[in-house]
Parts: sequence; C-alpha cells; structure tokens
Amino acid sequence: MINNGPRLRPDLEALPSYKAGQRPAPRSDITTFKISSNESHFAPLASVQDAIVAAATDINRYPDPFSSELVAAIAQHFEVPAEHIALGTGSVALCGQIIQSAAGPGDEIMYAWRSFESYPIWTGIAGAQSIQIPLKPDESHDLDAMLQAITPETRVIFVCSPNNPTGQIVDSVELEHFIAAVPSEIVIVLDEAYIEYVPPEKRSDSIRLYRENSNVVVLRTFSKAYGLAGLRVGFTISQEPITNALRKTALPFGVSSIAQAAAIASINAESELFERVSWVTKERNRVASELTAMGYQLNPSFANFVWLRLGTHSDVLHQALEQSGLSVRPFPGEGLRISIGETEANDRFIEVARQVASESGALR
Ligand SMILES: *Cc1c(COP(=O)(O)O)cnc(C)c1O
Repeated sequence: MINNGPRLRPDLEALPSYKAGQRPAPRSDITTFKISSNESHFAPLASVQDAIVAAATDINRYPDPFSSELVAAIAQHFEVPAEHIALGTGSVALCGQIIQSAAGPGDEIMYAWRSFESYPIWTGIAGAQSIQIPLKPDESHDLDAMLQAITPETRVIFVCSPNNPTGQIVDSVELEHFIAAVPSEIVIVLDEAYIEYVPPEKRSDSIRLYRENSNVVVLRTFSKAYGLAGLRVGFTISQEPITNALRKTALPFGVSSIAQAAAIASINAESELFERVSWVTKERNRVASELTAMGYQLNPSFANFVWLRLGTHSDVLHQALEQSGLSVRPFPGEGLRISIGETEANDRFIEVARQVASESGALR
C-alpha cells in the first residue's frame, strides 16, 4: 500500500495564515518595544489583577458555560437584554462563528480590502468565497461599491470601523443608508474593535442600529481599550436569531473563568481604562502630526495605531525601525501599521521616521 499521509482538505493549502505581530528580539544595548499588534501597552490595573488572582483559586472547575455574570454585566452596561449578548474567545472567534452560522461552500462573504486579515481566513475555512471590495483612495470603505457587489449568494458583510490596518471610520449617515439598502437576510457585522478610540461625536450609534435591524451584529472586544488581549474575550450584540446561532457555534467552555472575572472587573474599572484610552488618542495625534510635518502622507487614524501606505518604500522604514528595536506590523509592498505604545517607543518611532525621511526623498 502506498502511504500518502492523511487526506486533508486541499483548499486549505491556498488559505493565508494569520500573521501575528512580531515580538522584538531582546537586545542588550537598548529597550525594545512591541508595537505590532495594537495591544494596550499598559500593565493590567491592580483591581483587574486582583480579580484574576481570585478567579485562579477555582480553575480546577470548568467555567460557567453561559458566562452569566459577564453577560449580565455587559447587558446592563449597554442597556440591552442579556439574550442579545454572545461571548467568544476573542472577537476573532466570533467572526468565525458568524460566518459558520450563515455561510457554507458556494456562499459569499464581503468585506473591504485591505481590512482585518481574519476575514479571508475564516471565509476560506468555511469553504465560502471572499468578495473583497477595494478601499477608496482615502482608505475609507467604498460602501456604494459594496452595495453593487451584492449577489444572491452574499451571506455576510463585514464593516470594520475603525478599519484595521488603515484606521479610517465609516461615516455614520453613510452607514445608516448602507444598512437600509442591504437586503435584510444578509448579516451585517459592525466590527468595532477600536471604537473606544473614536471621538463620541464621530461614532455610529451601533446599538440603535442593531435594535432597528435584526440582521445587524455589533462586534466588540476586551482586547484593545480594555487591555485584556492575552485573556481572549470578545462579544456580540444582536437580536435573538443571530445571538442564538452564535451561542450554538461557540466552543464549549471557551471563555475561561479568569477571562470572565477580568472582563467584569474591567467593566467596573472603565473610567480608569478610558483615561488610558484618551492618553493613547492624544499620543496618536501627536505621532500623526509629527509624521505629517516631516512630509509623510497619512489619513487621520481613529484607532490606537497609525498607518503609512508607503508602497514599495515600506521596506526601508521597516528595516530602520527593526534595527532600532521597534517591532511593527509590515504589509510588504503596501504599508506599515505602527501601534501607539509607551512615550519612549513613540518618540523613537518619530525619530527613526524623521531620519528615514531625510535620507530617502522617495518617502515624501
Ligand atoms: C484586534 C481586532 C479584533 C479583536 O480580536 P480579539 O480576538 O478580540 O483579540 C477584532 N477585529 C479587528 C478588526 C481587530 O483589529
């Protein structure tokens, strides 16, 4: 008998792998910084650490499979029914569950491109087809083109605002018109992983949009503004049909008891956490205006990162940043995404960018 090894799905070969932000290699001469994954660089709050330590005494038991206390805390916080909340092991998992719940082979999943790299991966895993609609020249979603691209096979549309990695938001009036124009059997996901970094007057009223539309899912995470990326917890707000499907497709006991406790403690400490968010947005604006003054072209970012579309020149700046102990997220040939981190990291980024700009006229 010929042994060809295990028979796996051939289409998985064509799937891109998730490219996680790199950790910088340790150096003896300088402090290195990881500004490649849009994490919070702040250490967890003492109150959150205490909740984690307290929850650790119970980890011989499975977690509450319904995360009832956390669900209740989120429901109260957003003034929505608990029946409208689904939790996941990070909002990344919920992206996958949404696709699995609505689509299979032959169906289409639509999203802007470039956008969050989990969308094509989950789409491929489901055997569905990605419909990628190019961003407009100003890096914002081309909602008109997305409407035009809807077919009878369209099952899910992701709207990522602020968009990762470009940092642009979708205008709230345009979003409202878009949702009204999309057939109501198509699931619309509002991926708001970075919404806390957007000034309140520029945010869409996504909670109202989900209340008024049974096909709208609001997707949020504790990984960014709440600083719990390592614990893997995210949630959705949607009406019962979608929420029930997401609860069904969830990994059983996926959200650990420690993650549940930390998320509740973080909701309780929100005002403290949001002071950190406002520090980050000020730093982001400082970094962006320095870059603009040096001649870099960039659109305003509404998230905790900046995006430089340097095209083929990306490599030059990327190499220089790596050599200076700064690990950022490269999109080869396209651009660089740089997370806002410690003041020292941001200052060093500005200095390296300045040096590269003065040495290489091509960046301007
Ligand atoms: C970081 C991010 C998420 C959140 O991922 P988690 O799994 O919750 O850590 C979701 N969507 C986008 C666009 C992101 O950038």
